[in-house]
Amino acid sequence: MVGGGIIGAACAEELTRRGASVTLVERNELASGASGRNQGLWVPPEDPALHEIASRSLAHYLAIADEAPLPIRIDPRPIGTVFVAVDEEGLAEATDTLAAISAGGFAVSELDDAALVKAEPELARDLAAAWFVDAGHRLDPAALTIALALLAASRGAVIRHHLSARALLTDGDRVTGVVTDEGKIEADEVVVAAGPWSPRLFEPLGIELPVLGVRGWLVRVDPGEPLVRHLVRTAEGNGAVAAVRAGDVARGGLPASDGYGSIVHPHDDGTALIGSSRAAWLTPEPEDPSVPRQVLTNAIRIVPRLADAVMTSSWWGLRPMTPDERPLIGRVRDGLLVATGHGSEGVINGAGTAELVASVVFGERPPFDASPFDPFRFA
Ligand SMILES: Cc1cc2nc3c(=O)[nH]c(=O)nc-3n(C[C@H](O)[C@H](O)[C@H](O)COP(=O)(O)OP(=O)(O)OC[C@H]3O[C@@H](n4cnc5c(N)ncnc54)[C@H](O)[C@@H]3O)c2cc1C
Repeated sequence: MVGGGIIGAACAEELTRRGASVTLVERNELASGASGRNQGLWVPPEDPALHEIASRSLAHYLAIADEAPLPIRIDPRPIGTVFVAVDEEGLAEATDTLAAISAGGFAVSELDDAALVKAEPELARDLAAAWFVDAGHRLDPAALTIALALLAASRGAVIRHHLSARALLTDGDRVTGVVTDEGKIEADEVVVAAGPWSPRLFEPLGIELPVLGVRGWLVRVDPGEPLVRHLVRTAEGNGAVAAVRAGDVARGGLPASDGYGSIVHPHDDGTALIGSSRAAWLTPEPEDPSVPRQVLTNAIRIVPRLADAVMTSSWWGLRPMTPDERPLIGRVRDGLLVATGHGSEGVINGAGTAELVASVVFGERPPFDASPFDPFRFA
């Protein structure tokens, strides 16, 4: 297993649960990528192809919450989500989002002014529309990742952190392991779950996987008292993130972030986590450090009293994103599987991904339709 994010950890846990012998290599710490730096939400996916993989994932996280070796702090029941459209433009876009959520089996009810004030008294009064969906679980994503890895370790998995997989080992057309800074690790199957860094391992074998790193920012604030009771989010869909053209950079410099969607996520301690943004990742450090400003501006438009909150921290993570925002899960060569490209939904779909990976490793029928996740669908 290459990668100690949510996907690698979930795969290690599932594979050891089924009796496989697993070694996981992580070049930094467990959960040091986006898996430890994300918003920590399980919310219903809008893409119907993801409904089953997502609901299996949630069921698994709820099932392991008690046995997890550290608290993963998952809401046992949904906290509920208030979707808002800020203006007429947002209202038009919200229709698709809410129809998709409704198609996933979640009841969507429109909130009139009185119902909105009752549900969320601190929201701006001049929003174009609002809806309630009885869905949305909060959890600690770093703790979940570590818990899954430790559960795997308790069944014999070897977890090697601060160890890079430098290359895949091959014997003819077959992959037989990885080369690390400490030498070779041989394996019957290698699963690459290295997030946005995965393509680098495949390239020397002539395998091209269209996974783009997409940076997203979060801001944490302390308003002194809880200002929202549910998840509060804008209902507009996100635009696709395209690779940046060299000519555009030559003409205009590194691009500014675009594609902001607001989610205000209340923590039990009264603080709130606010996200997020989307922009192609070009440099190790942020191309556009002004993004937290826009993230906060959008959130204050919805919850005006956030303007008085103390800003306590801000950080970013890199999502592994495919062109259709569905993950790549499956076999790419003898002895080699990929599990990455989960975009904004790696936590939402992590444990279901692991079930699919395990079915491929053990040569079983997939637990659900795997065709939307075919690694070669863009070829
Ligand atoms: C701001 C933001 C908010 C988000 N909010 C949510 C949310 O609320 N819900 C949700 O479901 N998703 C959310 N996401 C998306 C989610 O974080 C990602 O989909 C998920 O973390 C991807 O997990 P991963 O294991 O594929 O990748 P990563 O977490 O990147 O893990 C890959 C690991 O592989 C390691 N690695 C890389 N190369 C090598 C190598 N050669 N050898 C060894 N190790 C290697 C890396 O160090 C890294 O730890 C959010 C993302 C961002 C940025």
